[in-house]
Amino acid sequence: MLRAMARINENYQKLQAGYLFPEIGRRVRAFTEANPDAAVIRLGIGDVTEPLAPAVVAAIKDAADAMGTAEGFHGYGPENGYGFLLDAILEHDYRTRGIELDASEIFVSDGSKQDSGNIQEIFGSECRVLVTDPVYPVYVDSNVMAGRTGEADDGGRYAGLAYLPATEQNGFSPDPPAEGADLAYLCSPNNPTGAVMTREKMERWVAWARANDTVLIFDAAYDAFIQDPELPRSIYEIEGARECAIEMRSFSKRAGFTGVRCAYTVIPKGLTGTTTSGERVELNALWSRRHATKFNSVPFVIQKAAAAVFSPEGLKQTSEQVAFYMENARRLREGLGAAGFTLFGGEHAPYIWMRTPEGISSWGFFDRLLTETHVVGTPGSGFGSAGEGYFRLSAFNSRDNVDEAIARVSRAFGTS
Ligand SMILES: *Cc1c(COP(=O)(O)O)cnc(C)c1O
Repeated sequence: MLRAMARINENYQKLQAGYLFPEIGRRVRAFTEANPDAAVIRLGIGDVTEPLAPAVVAAIKDAADAMGTAEGFHGYGPENGYGFLLDAILEHDYRTRGIELDASEIFVSDGSKQDSGNIQEIFGSECRVLVTDPVYPVYVDSNVMAGRTGEADDGGRYAGLAYLPATEQNGFSPDPPAEGADLAYLCSPNNPTGAVMTREKMERWVAWARANDTVLIFDAAYDAFIQDPELPRSIYEIEGARECAIEMRSFSKRAGFTGVRCAYTVIPKGLTGTTTSGERVELNALWSRRHATKFNSVPFVIQKAAAAVFSPEGLKQTSEQVAFYMENARRLREGLGAAGFTLFGGEHAPYIWMRTPEGISSWGFFDRLLTETHVVGTPGSGFGSAGEGYFRLSAFNSRDNVDEAIARVSRAFGTS
């Protein structure tokens, strides 16, 4: 008799042990256990710190009250999101920038982390995937789990994935490569480098995608942090992007929803992939099928909270939160720049990407910063081998902590 066996998905064993943030947590815990009195300032994990906007809190309370009444109770919601939220998204995130989308092209979800990890499911396992290096680890790991890669090499790069280095030379915003790909993940404003794509850069990517029949997966989680109104906030501001790009947005960073959970993915009608026999299939229909099978809509209360972000008070209050973080970013740039550091990003993103001091690796700098200044950041090499020699600081913290971190780091490592 054949013995039954719950064989595991062995692709998971290709994943590198000690994923970045657990490793940071482990080192910080070890330090605080040994130094219980140290006042550690965390500029590491990209989580927001400001409390929810009053307009959002009021919407949550109202919706919770409604749920306790016979008339206001809501069970399972419509799969793609409630009309009130879809309409607000279409109006405020798109129509104001001259983009016409249909409600059926928007899929409300509980997070862009999930969406950017799950989207690969609707593509074939033989698809060639392109990512930038450094990169948001979810794009890579989700493709590893799905079996689109071989093993990782010593530098942490997986066989079968195409990596495009984001370097000082290309302003951390690489041009499309000479060779094509089937799927390409882009993130602008970028986590971790803080770089933002210009209109010309986006046009080159869209032209490349259309010429190569590539699907772009455009992660715009940080669009609200763009300060220059001339810079595109959506890939659909570029002519032709409807035919080649999926866009993802989240309420996490723009409105402090990291613990509330609401995001959305846009898949325009007319954007297609191909079958082995060459037939064109709508990606919107595939994602719709997937969403309906594996997801049961974002809670009514949370969608009300998200819609409140677009109310006049919500827009005002959340843009004040963004301005608060951007002032932190400006101080980090100015203070650490004056101390002699070479810094990038932080102008249209809540992340500062800094060069580590001469001769110190990313993890070496992490350890020294922690032990000598009690400040926690994120080693650039944790986002990819091209991130070695760099370090990410986040602007998500209180003003006092940011000022104190600047003072401590300047004292310990300042060269000017
Ligand atoms: C924070 C972040 C997101 C948002 O994730 P949620 O699951 O919506 O909280 C998406 N992409 C990137 C690159 C991020 O840094």
